[in-house]
Amino acid sequence: MAAKVLVVEDEAAISQLLDYNLGAEGFEVVIVEDGDEALLAIEENDPDIVLLDWMLPNVSGVEICRRLRAREATRALPVIMLTARGEEEDRLRGLDTGADDYVTKPFSMSELVARIRAVLRRSNPAIAGDVASFGDITLDRNTMRVRRGDRDIKLGPTEFRLLDVLLQRPGRVYSREQLLDRVWGQDIYVEARTVDVHIGRLRKALKRKGEVDPIRTVRSAGYAFDETYTG
Ligand code: CA
Repeated sequence: MAAKVLVVEDEAAISQLLDYNLGAEGFEVVIVEDGDEALLAIEENDPDIVLLDWMLPNVSGVEICRRLRAREATRALPVIMLTARGEEEDRLRGLDTGADDYVTKPFSMSELVARIRAVLRRSNPAIAGDVASFGDITLDRNTMRVRRGDRDIKLGPTEFRLLDVLLQRPGRVYSREQLLDRVWGQDIYVEARTVDVHIGRLRKALKRKGEVDPIRTVRSAGYAFDETYTG
């Protein structure tokens, strides 16, 4: 499953470079140019990690980071701060910004990608590894196999991706729109009720008679992988 990276950077040359290179590494990239936009974009796009330039128009990267840490929904959202070498770097070191890591410009793309992967692994092993699991349910991204206990679960590609998304953050409720975005992609028009159809198929595949349903339906909100599932 591609992790979603939100880049907050006002220098177009850098954001284009990031867009191209992180895209080539399999990340989904969203770019915004200033601090005001950043907070809204985080709410709308629900990224897995934020690359945050320190010097931005309107609201600074440091201030955005503080606001993210102050809000329940984004307290644990991984942030890597981008900073220019020299005075900026020195000043930043003295601040308690709450960022997970710092990368100094100019940076090598391979170094940045390694840092992103490391921060993602720390913050959410379920996103970064080949295998995501919860309780007795295991999903292997390499072999595309899903197991519940010692039973193989046969899933279509859409149900596989749906389960992958839900398993990345058990307990988190995804709206139909968020699932459409993450499973089908932003460029495809699919009706929201299509999500219900595929959730139905996923449930049917996962659950035998008498077994607990690991997928929660949250009325008028969406779906979640049940974080209390112990199967
Ligand atoms: Ca800047």
